[in-house]
Amino acid sequence: MSHDLLKRLGIDTDPRLHPKAGQPSVVTENPATGEPIATVALDDAAAYERQAAACVAAFASWRSVPAPVRGQLVRSIGDAFRVHKAELGELVSLEVGKIRAEGEGEIQEIIDIADFAVGLSRQLPGQVFPSERARHRIIEQWLPLGPVGVISAFNFPAAVWAWNAMLAAVCGDTVLWKPSLLAPLTAIACNRIAAKVAADMGHPGIFGLVIGADAEVGERMVADRRLPLISATGSCRMGKRVGRVVAERLGRCLLELGGNNAVIVTPDADLKLAIPAIVFGAVGTAGQRCTTTRRLIVHESLADDVCRRLAEAYKQVQGRIGDPLAAGTLVGPLINARAVEQFEHAIAQAKAQGGAVLAGGRRAPRPGHFVEPTIVRAPAGNRLPIAAEETFAPILYVLTYRTFGEALAIQNGVEQGLSSAIFSNNLLETEAFLAADGSGSDCGIANVNAGTSGAEIGGAFGGEKETGGGRESGSDSWKAYMRRQTTVVNYSGKLELAQGIRFE
Ligand code: NAD
Repeated sequence: MSHDLLKRLGIDTDPRLHPKAGQPSVVTENPATGEPIATVALDDAAAYERQAAACVAAFASWRSVPAPVRGQLVRSIGDAFRVHKAELGELVSLEVGKIRAEGEGEIQEIIDIADFAVGLSRQLPGQVFPSERARHRIIEQWLPLGPVGVISAFNFPAAVWAWNAMLAAVCGDTVLWKPSLLAPLTAIACNRIAAKVAADMGHPGIFGLVIGADAEVGERMVADRRLPLISATGSCRMGKRVGRVVAERLGRCLLELGGNNAVIVTPDADLKLAIPAIVFGAVGTAGQRCTTTRRLIVHESLADDVCRRLAEAYKQVQGRIGDPLAAGTLVGPLINARAVEQFEHAIAQAKAQGGAVLAGGRRAPRPGHFVEPTIVRAPAGNRLPIAAEETFAPILYVLTYRTFGEALAIQNGVEQGLSSAIFSNNLLETEAFLAADGSGSDCGIANVNAGTSGAEIGGAFGGEKETGGGRESGSDSWKAYMRRQTTVVNYSGKLELAQGIRFE
């Protein structure tokens, strides 16, 4: 089945899938079965050099293509992804275990961001400012930045690349992508589509791909002075390392790192909205989204009722764990055996810290890397240190509060600051959550009566604190992929200095 899929995507003959004798390689596994899918050759330093040099060379001409024409190329890429959406979605499911709807959803995100980038290609607006000098004009313009290094995490093996690559392409940049070694096939398939469209339209080299070990290829990319921007998505541990190395060379970093996202449920919440949003946020993608709901902060007056309703909903979900490609499945596997161990370790810690397991708590009894979606209620006083950590698995910690201030303090009291949500119909509370002085949620994403996960591409995506501060996707995130130039044009025919300085 998997070979047929690789064939349909045209990557079965890719040289990377046919390593030469003695060449370092990784075996990609289907996390739903533990069975191998393919062996993928790893790039070494020399291969990295070839790819990076190609991206540098392509930038020299791509930057001069007018932005709306660059947009036409991105439009064609979006169309190519429309054609291959079902197969690519299936490949995402096969390689990282997302259920079919989410696998295809990820390809839809590529299509959406391509559309967004096409529109942007007719804008990329600069500004004009008034000059203090007569017959002078101050113009701020945005210029292509250079080849961009994109490092992606396993859990969004396609969309994260596209968020970066489609914007970078219309901005006039070229892209060198280093995917996770847990999802190289999706990267090969997606990059092949984009690179083919670009080559067919006379622009080879815009989309480069390197697949290799962090020490051999990742570190090399991060330290590469030819890449003015490194956009890295993954764990906080990785971001701290990448941030340091890029800062050392005074390069630019766009960091999209871990989250520990919470939902606050107040006494005025509509539980008909809150419960399904919490279940989707905590259980969707088997808890392996950066925006997964990991903490529920519920008013003490509702806590028992909310826990009972959630436990009831989880009972239904436990019966829908299984093959991610089968109809009706809601929960696929974790990515690998190590992730299952981390899940078990977190549950053991939670129990040792006095947490009560209200649902799930065990690995699921089937082949592959499946676990049961789990709810853990914290002991009185919310003393549950494990809840401050991001365990990449479907574990929801329930914490309780008395005053709204307490709820906010719990919500903000973790190292990460990615996504947050409040369920309430009390205007004073919802506005306090979004307060204009910044005293509400400290996250990059703050939703009212909508859950923590499932962002659209229209807004800027990213988070604060140890989430890294980067913004990708919509709004003005494109500015990260361009360099700003302030220019003064003097059409007075006289030389006049600013601040009235006379230098005669
Ligand atoms: P990871 O940190 O293990 O790996 C992410 C990527 O970084 C991989 O491509 C990896 O090879 C690369 N990498 C690691 N060390 C490197 C180094 N020294 N130099 C260069 N590259 C290096 O993360 P993961 O397990 O793949 O993904 C899960 C994590 O990603 C979670 O913490 C999740 O919250 C986070 N994530 C964040 C976002 C976001 O937008 N904020 C999105 C998806 C995932």
